[in-house]
Amino acid sequence: YERMCQKLKKTKDSFIQKVENVVYYGDLDDDFFDELEETFILSDLGIETATKITETLREQIKETKTKAKQDVMDLLRQIMTEMVEVEKHQTELPVIMLVVGVNGVGKTTTIAKLAQKYKDQGKKVMVAAADTFRAAAAEQLDVWADRVGVDIIKSVQGADPSSVVFDAIGAARARGADILLCDTAGRLHNKVNLMKELEKITRVVEREGQGFSVHNLLVLDATTGQNALNQAKTFNDAVHLDGIVMTKMDGTAKGGVAIAIIDELQVPIEYVGIGEKPEDLIDFDAGEFVRMLYE
Ligand code: GDP
Repeated sequence: YERMCQKLKKTKDSFIQKVENVVYYGDLDDDFFDELEETFILSDLGIETATKITETLREQIKETKTKAKQDVMDLLRQIMTEMVEVEKHQTELPVIMLVVGVNGVGKTTTIAKLAQKYKDQGKKVMVAAADTFRAAAAEQLDVWADRVGVDIIKSVQGADPSSVVFDAIGAARARGADILLCDTAGRLHNKVNLMKELEKITRVVEREGQGFSVHNLLVLDATTGQNALNQAKTFNDAVHLDGIVMTKMDGTAKGGVAIAIIDELQVPIEYVGIGEKPEDLIDFDAGEFVRMLYE
C-alpha cells in the first residue's frame, strides 16, 4: 500500500486537489454538481462514470441531508469504492494466459514482470512469442525470458501467430509448465485483422488447451487516459477479458482512468506497472486505490 501511494502520487495529488477545490469552496447547488462532474472528467474518469458518481452523490445528499463538507468527501469515497468492487477471477493451474494490447503499452515488459512474479512464487513459467509481425517483439521477449530465466517458444518473423501458440501449448504440456504467458500482436490501426487474429488464437487455445484454464489479460497504458478506456472497450468486444494490467502508473496524473475502466467494463484491474524493471509490478486493489485518492 505504501509503495502504491508513493508511486501513484501524481494521480493522487492531482485528484484530491481538484475534488477538494470544488467540495470545500461553494454551496452544494446545481453549479456544484456540474463543477464536480467536470472535475471527474478532467481526472480521466470519463463522462459516463463521472455522471454516475455525481448523480449518485446528488441523491445521497438529498436523502441524508448532508451539509458538512467532510461528509460529502466521505460519501464520494464510498460511492467510488462501491463502484470499483469487481471480483477477481480465480484461475486454476496450469493456465494459459493470453496477453493482449496495443503496441507500445508495455505488453512485453508486463509479460517479463509476470514471468518474474510467478517464477518467484515457485511456478514453472513459459512464454510464447506470438507477436510474429514485429521482429523486434520476439527478440525483446527473448532477452527478457533469458534475464528472468524462463523458457520461450518462438518462430520466424511472419509465421502464423496461432501456430506459435499451438506449438507453445504442446511444449507447455510436455514440460509440465504451470503458466504459459502468450504475447500477441497489437496493431490497432488494422483493427479488423487484429481482432480476427485474436479470435483465431482464442480458438486454438480452446481446442488445444484441454487441461489448462485460460486467462485473458489486457494491457493498457495509463498515460494515454481516455485512449486506454477506448482500447479497453474495443478489446472487450473482441475477446472475453478476465483481467487488466495498467502500466506506467508511475509518473502519470491520469491514473483515475482505472476507475472508469473498471466501472464501464466490469473487469478487474489485477496489476499495475510502476516502472520498467521486472519487479515493478504490484497487485492492484481498486478499493485501496480509491481510499488512497481521498487521503
Ligand atoms: P509493447 O510494445 O507493448 O510490448 O511495449 P514494451 O513492453 O516494449 O514497453 C514500451 C515502453 O514502456 C518501454 O520503454 C518500457 O520500458 C516502458 N514501460 C512498460 N511498462 C512500464 C511501467 O509500468 N512504467 C514505466 N515508467 N514504463 C514502462
